[in-house]
Amino acid sequence: MDRRRFLGTSLLAGLAARSFAATKEDSFDFAYLTDIHVQPELGAPEGFRQCLRAVNRLPTPADFVLTGGDLIFDALDVGMDRIREQWKVFDECSKELALPVHHAIGNHDVVGWSAKSPVKPTDQDYGKKLFAERFGLARTYRSFDHKGWHFIILDSIGQNRETLEYEGWIDDAQLAWLKQDLAATGRATPIVMVTHIPFYTTWHQVLKGPDHHLDGKAIVRNLHTFRKLFDDYNVQLVLSGHGHVVERIEIGKVTYVQGGAVSGMWWKGPVFGKPEGFGTVNCRRDGTWSWKYRDYGWKARK
Ligand SMILES: [Zn+2]
Repeated sequence: MDRRRFLGTSLLAGLAARSFAATKEDSFDFAYLTDIHVQPELGAPEGFRQCLRAVNRLPTPADFVLTGGDLIFDALDVGMDRIREQWKVFDECSKELALPVHHAIGNHDVVGWSAKSPVKPTDQDYGKKLFAERFGLARTYRSFDHKGWHFIILDSIGQNRETLEYEGWIDDAQLAWLKQDLAATGRATPIVMVTHIPFYTTWHQVLKGPDHHLDGKAIVRNLHTFRKLFDDYNVQLVLSGHGHVVERIEIGKVTYVQGGAVSGMWWKGPVFGKPEGFGTVNCRRDGTWSWKYRDYGWKARK
């Protein structure tokens, strides 16, 4: 490590420590809700509200909420009226939440990136525009700092150039931004990333056999071109969604957690025996953390 980099790291670590010290706390919590898939049917609005009430009443109050995308049931395969109806339900339910929230985009939040979609590429609402506009975002990826920790919300939804369907992909502009963002964060600051589509996942192999091949519908296809970046920084936790499973993979110093689903099996019950739920993460002053999956008590309506 050269001297300038060392000084930069020390300075950043010092700033991180001071911002935490200023709070007089040793740790803070945030909640992680993914794959909510709100729709008018199957009691989903009541289920989502019940989940948000559980978040509001956590035994250790959360400072904020992160979501892992797939906020609405589906915008890939249906027309604009149905898409707007789902967002309306999402907005109504979201009023229940008493905390700041930062949303990641999921594939089902993207308009029309499916062969079955009635929405054409020439339609003004095609793609991610609606999602970005609804949340007042200039772009669908961003980062922020909180009490000495750094949070990076990625947009992992790419579009396959041949099929025009979605695939897990971090595009070049976002990768350039990510490199800059990590460099500005420094090597010491603990980092949490959110990506809707997982970087690693094993449940397909559990279900279909250990030699099952994963494609861009299951994982971020170009991860291997940038994963080594993480080795230079203090990436602690990568949160994902998409598969609706609760899964924890530790590789080296990075832990990859797939955070179950608020909707369980699309509001039809548990997944691999895990209930509809959400996660909480306790981030500590010393840069360590712990994660817990919580059942919020929903019972699927038959
Ligand atoms: Zn998804």
